[in-house]
Amino acid sequence: MLYFFYPSRETLEVSLTGTSCALNCNHCNAQYLSRMKTKEEILQILEKNPGRFKSILISGGSTPEGKVPILQHMDFIQKVYSMGIKLNFHTGLLTEEEIRAIKPYVERISFDFVYDDRVIQDVYHLKDKTKEDFEKTYLLMRRIIGGRIENEEGLPQSRVVPHITLGLKCGEVDQGEEDTIDELAFIKPTLIVIDVFIPTKGTPYENCPLPNLDKVLKMIDKAYRRTSRTTTLFLGCMRPFGEYRERLDVEAYKLGVKGFVLPSKALRDLVKEKGEEVRIFNECCALI
Ligand code: SF4
Repeated sequence: MLYFFYPSRETLEVSLTGTSCALNCNHCNAQYLSRMKTKEEILQILEKNPGRFKSILISGGSTPEGKVPILQHMDFIQKVYSMGIKLNFHTGLLTEEEIRAIKPYVERISFDFVYDDRVIQDVYHLKDKTKEDFEKTYLLMRRIIGGRIENEEGLPQSRVVPHITLGLKCGEVDQGEEDTIDELAFIKPTLIVIDVFIPTKGTPYENCPLPNLDKVLKMIDKAYRRTSRTTTLFLGCMRPFGEYRERLDVEAYKLGVKGFVLPSKALRDLVKEKGEEVRIFNECCALI
């Protein structure tokens, strides 16, 4: 069974902080925030299109501590939750108090599991944070949010879904990615979402090369070999388009990846040819 995701059909994305961010990470520089909706826009869209959207990715710019300032936006969270909308929180290094505050509203937390101090300090500009801070926050979220997921797919079994991004150091894939996969293999989440760095216009990394595809595939292969007994792998929405994605998707499928956000045509054709069963979801992949 394969899973294909088309999230923009039923999941809206909000930046709680608009276009402002204290970190301006090298790979993002707040560029991705401007593509998200503001809180006001979200409320208007929900009002004008009742029943059309089922979920919201709650994201935003970061404070200097590496998190979206969620406590300042609880009114919005409560309001959309009370409208029956499922919430997928992408909110970074929350404290215990903040995790407890959002717990009643969490359908999922999509947590960027960064286990590489060079990414944390040089790319994210979080000079006093380390990989241990990210791991501690992830484990704390899992402990506090808890809860088994009851769905047909049995995926994921925890509401906290780690995301990893390969090639975040200006396209380089190195020991940092190896360490991240080793650590996740040790922690054994039931689902890991893998993204791949895209050099993005308007960021300090706009002229970086695409991550070497063979190295990316080597990491996906490693992730599969090290985790396949306990863990399902998905390719998330951030990965280069065009020929790169065509080859990445096909090879990742051959390596055992089971879910693809906006799958390439080459993969769709291959799967059809093989007669593989595919389920289509129209929301964020972590919301499976
Ligand atoms: S990777 Fe999946 S969960 Fe994360 S934002 Fe993209 S579609 Fe949503």
